[in-house]
Amino acid sequence: MTGTKSLLILANWKMQLNNAESLALFKEIDEELKGLKNTEGMGVIICPSFTALPEIAKLIPETKIKLGAQDVFWEQVGVYTGEVSPEMLKECNCQYVLVGHSDRRTYLKETDEMVHLKIKATLASLLSPVICVGETFKERQLGRKDYVVIRQVTQALSGIDLILDSTQLIIAYEPVWVIGSGQAIDSEEAEYMHQVIKQSLIDLYPMKIVENCFRIIYGGSINSQIVKSFLVQPHIDGVLVGGASLNKEEFIGIIKEAIKVQKFK
Ligand code: PEP
Repeated sequence: MTGTKSLLILANWKMQLNNAESLALFKEIDEELKGLKNTEGMGVIICPSFTALPEIAKLIPETKIKLGAQDVFWEQVGVYTGEVSPEMLKECNCQYVLVGHSDRRTYLKETDEMVHLKIKATLASLLSPVICVGETFKERQLGRKDYVVIRQVTQALSGIDLILDSTQLIIAYEPVWVIGSGQAIDSEEAEYMHQVIKQSLIDLYPMKIVENCFRIIYGGSINSQIVKSFLVQPHIDGVLVGGASLNKEEFIGIIKEAIKVQKFK
């Protein structure tokens, strides 16, 4: 369990880069990061495609970057064509796994039950799940955004026992309609939703567990211009970055802003 209140900056590269491009971008970001001061408290995590993991995994011991995967299956071994287990991800030096990203909930019809099983398997392998939750535009219009997010958090975690030295868990609040839109929500509204998520966690676990084991981060059209307004919010522990993480300057710009904010958190 990491336990420190470091700010987390996660990159989700989705299916946007081939292996050579992934490796090249990783090396460029690594190089820039090595030149930055005051990164000690920061958690920079990159989630490339599965196929790019083995090559990038070789570089991980020499970098300040941690590796994550974009998905995982809930069994360790068996007749599951096309799936990748938590232990296989560990072999690739992964420490984090995105679970229940809205792309998967939308296109692959991933359910809360599947998300729950994936979290259980991930924790059993001592990997940190990054549990993605968030309402669609329709759910928002119907006034159901709090309800949807509380349901997603509760169904993802209920029945999962955690102890104080458990692996870190991350909840990423990502309003679905904002992802990839170029227009983030207001940072104060994001702060409110983070408080809703924290309350859901307090309803499930003792406060000490919530404080020590969980981090809550925001995702949805983050860039280097606006990231500070999110990171200064008291309940926002970091950001999940899609599009802007594919651009070295933008991603490093986001990290630089986080370094400034980290001092005051
Ligand atoms: C994402 O896909 O998780 C994401 C936050 O994407 P973007 O930053 O492009 O909105």
